[in-house]
Amino acid sequence: MIQTDKKINLKGLTLPELQEYFVSIGEPKFRGEQIFNWMYNHLSFDFSEMQNVSKELRQKLSAVCSLQTLSLTATQDSPTTATKKYLFATHDNKKIESVVIPEKDRNTLCISTQVGCPLDCKFCATGLMGYKRNLTPGEVVDQYLLTAKEYGKENITNIVYMGMGEPLLNYETTIKSAEIFTHELTKGLSRTRITVSTAGIAPKIRELADHGLRVKLAFSLHSAFEDIRNKIMPINKKYSLKENTEALKYYAKKTKTRITFEYTMLKGLNDRDEDVKALTKLCSSLPSKINVIPFNSIKHMNPGGISAHLEPTSHENIHQFADKLRNNNITVMIRQTQGDDIAAACGQLAVKSL
Ligand code: SF4
Repeated sequence: MIQTDKKINLKGLTLPELQEYFVSIGEPKFRGEQIFNWMYNHLSFDFSEMQNVSKELRQKLSAVCSLQTLSLTATQDSPTTATKKYLFATHDNKKIESVVIPEKDRNTLCISTQVGCPLDCKFCATGLMGYKRNLTPGEVVDQYLLTAKEYGKENITNIVYMGMGEPLLNYETTIKSAEIFTHELTKGLSRTRITVSTAGIAPKIRELADHGLRVKLAFSLHSAFEDIRNKIMPINKKYSLKENTEALKYYAKKTKTRITFEYTMLKGLNDRDEDVKALTKLCSSLPSKINVIPFNSIKHMNPGGISAHLEPTSHENIHQFADKLRNNNITVMIRQTQGDDIAAACGQLAVKSL
């Protein structure tokens, strides 16, 4: 349980945890359900609004509990698309970002799980920032709650764990927050509308499969060759593509879901004919599809090393690459770049003031 200013923070607690808390302070278990409903369904962050809770208990809760984790400090609208970026401050003055990405039939909220990221993927602005700390369950849940309050809860149809950080390195928090988002009392989102994205923490992929949450899984692939992944994603040296592929097969089988491979197109590095061949082989070995993503410049971060030399594949070559895969019976989507004008596109979530 998170304590701030000696108050117990209830935001981010699951239903069983809330029920346990109320029993521990001598209240009936159903109080947990009431508070859960107020926070996550009605987006109420003030005990005084919780009218089906007695005045006496509301006063007691105000004295010993808190519902405050993040503060929304700024929003930014893309002038060219409807993408909207939300900047939050934590209680220890760290800055994190979430982004709402509107598409034809959905509005997807992209949330962060860490302040910065330890994985140092060479095409990613967040990776260049380094790692500060894991977010708490309350801080992850609050990105949805505060955004939903401003954007309209009914307008947010999907959540992707693809913002700052590696969700499977903050595993318990990722699980807890997804349980809250998909709980029937939250009246929020079904598990098929939640996607957890990982750069490849093979043992945690298996653990997630066994957990039974059955959310969708996206795997940041970016190359089907071990040596290239080693160069652009250092985590591959710890958990190889081979090990991850076995874990992904296990996940797909256990959850009866299809894996999405995320594939950022890097000129001369992963857009060659041999890449088409290797990708085809990989994708044919398990239920999957590929999201091809145009590379967004990270030059605003002044990167060094290999990052400084990464170039985007041209628009025309991306389409040719996708067509070659389709000819091999692979399902391919080309993701439209959204929000790069406000540094809110994939790999650009970084806060310079950190
Ligand atoms: S791509 Fe994801 S896992 Fe890799 S450094 Fe960026 S935030 Fe971390």
